[in-house]
Amino acid sequence: MAKHYASSRNAKFLVHEVHDLAALTKHPYFAHHDRESFDMMIDAAFQLADTHLFPYFADMDRNEPELKDGVVKVHPQVKNIIRALAEGGWINATVPLAEGGMQLPESINALGQFIFQAANNSAMPFTGLTAGAANLIRTFGSDYLKQTYMERMYAGEWQGTMALTEPQAGSSLSDIVTTAEPVAEGVFKIKGQKIFISAGDLDALDNVVHLLLARIKGAPAGTKGISLFVVPKKRVVEGKLVDNDVLPAGIYHKMGQKATPAMHLMLGENDNCFGYLVGEPNKGLSYMFQMMNEARILVGITAAAIASAAYHASLEYAKERPQGRRLNEKNPLNPPTLIINHPDVRRLLLFQKSVVEGSLSLLLETAKYADLAHVSQGEEQANHLLMLELLTPVAKTYPAEAGIASVSAGLQCLGGYGFCKDFPLEQLYRDIRITAIYEGTTAIQSLDLLGRKLTMHNGKAGRLYIQAVSETIGEAAVYDALKKYAAALEHELKNLQKVTAHLMEIAQKGDAELFLADATLYMELFSLNAIAWQWLKQGTAAHKALLAGAINQEETAFYESKLQAMKYFFHYELPKTQGLTTRLTDSEVITIAQQKELLV
Ligand SMILES: Cc1cc2nc3c(=O)[nH]c(=O)nc-3n(C[C@H](O)[C@H](O)[C@H](O)COP(=O)(O)OP(=O)(O)OC[C@H]3O[C@@H](n4cnc5c(N)ncnc54)[C@H](O)[C@@H]3O)c2cc1C
Repeated sequence: MAKHYASSRNAKFLVHEVHDLAALTKHPYFAHHDRESFDMMIDAAFQLADTHLFPYFADMDRNEPELKDGVVKVHPQVKNIIRALAEGGWINATVPLAEGGMQLPESINALGQFIFQAANNSAMPFTGLTAGAANLIRTFGSDYLKQTYMERMYAGEWQGTMALTEPQAGSSLSDIVTTAEPVAEGVFKIKGQKIFISAGDLDALDNVVHLLLARIKGAPAGTKGISLFVVPKKRVVEGKLVDNDVLPAGIYHKMGQKATPAMHLMLGENDNCFGYLVGEPNKGLSYMFQMMNEARILVGITAAAIASAAYHASLEYAKERPQGRRLNEKNPLNPPTLIINHPDVRRLLLFQKSVVEGSLSLLLETAKYADLAHVSQGEEQANHLLMLELLTPVAKTYPAEAGIASVSAGLQCLGGYGFCKDFPLEQLYRDIRITAIYEGTTAIQSLDLLGRKLTMHNGKAGRLYIQAVSETIGEAAVYDALKKYAAALEHELKNLQKVTAHLMEIAQKGDAELFLADATLYMELFSLNAIAWQWLKQGTAAHKALLAGAINQEETAFYESKLQAMKYFFHYELPKTQGLTTRLTDSEVITIAQQKELLV
């Protein structure tokens, strides 16, 4: 049933008919779940979102956090949301049963997070960051850190954060200067400042545990000298909470996601800030990549979810708003038509549907590779991990960039009302903008895709991708109605290979700047291919369901609408690869800085 912010029917279609996630339960690790329990999780997520999140969406935006007398006051509902998510088992959902979690596949957890984010994205970073930070302690931390900090975080009693960014170190984490000076085994004095730390302080919980990157005095320069620390707001001393000299210096006043404070923090101003080393010295950035990769998928989920809320709100509006007449209707005395009947409004809606449901499908595909890696070994596992690595920057970036355009299209459907606070579109438009910036900007993700993911292991990830997409093409090509789309994707896949080979030739000549100058455009090209892949998968599943017959009117409409969105994507979005290909194979250098400044 369609909700105001997300479709439960679409969630179940993707889980069962497109990605067959119940097949994961054949593996012993996930055998305590089944198709029905996945459906129950989805229903429970909607129920929680309906009760604790959706009703507070606008109010939490209008009443943003305040820093007063050293206390960060957040919206009163924050406490209830964290408690509800903890009680629902969503903070430690993927943690093994033996450690108190649900041992839930990452893919089903991602879908639950999608539902929550669609209902109220602005409030969701609290638990998302706590889960990521606690998972990091779980993987790399000592028993002491697990018992003292992690357990309280999974219980939703203490907040977790990811404390990376400094004034001079945003995209470039190798420039981090926060220092750590050893005082005892595994214990360091921390000094420095961190900026933009989401959920970096709050009055709703008793403590905040920062997973913080700093440089041990004397460590090598660059990324090889960065270590990871647990730096609590209050440290535990003989069972008591003691102030740890982490000062909230200010709250950034942001354009969106206002419920979550982004904090400027001063550490060790009074020489009394202690940090506890996680894992080995100088390996911090590689550890942090676990949290960053989880967070990148979560940001993709956030973007797809915000775009979903915008799509459903604008679809509802378009079905109710009368304005103007159909272009072939000449009689001004006839009543106006609903705007959903105008081709341009339908285009705006189809664009949104293709972005939202294409993105969510890619995100589930990506998370499924994490699940498959968990239950496989040897070469099979290595291949799943490579696909996970390859798809992660795409699954972060496409939903963010296309999602921004998609929410804008949703706002456009409402005309002037879209620009006003009476409808949720203006807030969603503000909220989604950050998704292309934090967790690595679009440029950084694109450098990662082209410069790292496609070149590692001699291009193996790219070959695995071609194999996976080719399988989908083969499955679709069996059906006459889908042959045309299968052939189109096959053509696109060859084109992608051609462009990639062209860029790799440049790479081999050793000019990294020339090779990577248009990495963001390459990301667009790759993303269009990946989303077309997801739409062909969805189209095939829908076509099969319609062929099987014996379904009611509502179900028929659901599947026909899927096929229409697939066709839209292939006829309106996919052709954009032509322009991108032209540029990516054009040898004229325009954007590389020259000795003479040409931008004035
Ligand atoms: C609301 C919000 C919440 C945040 N939450 C957190 C958090 O919880 N924890 C945390 O640690 N940080 C957080 N951040 C910080 C965020 O991750 C950074 O803002 C982001 O990584 C970009 O860094 P920067 O702002 O310094 O921009 P810069 O790195 O200065 O980038 C500016 C521009 O230059 C481009 N650019 C930079 N380097 C390159 C390059 N090598 N090649 C091509 N282009 C490049 C960027 O793409 C961007 O367009 C948050 C930020 C915001 C706004």
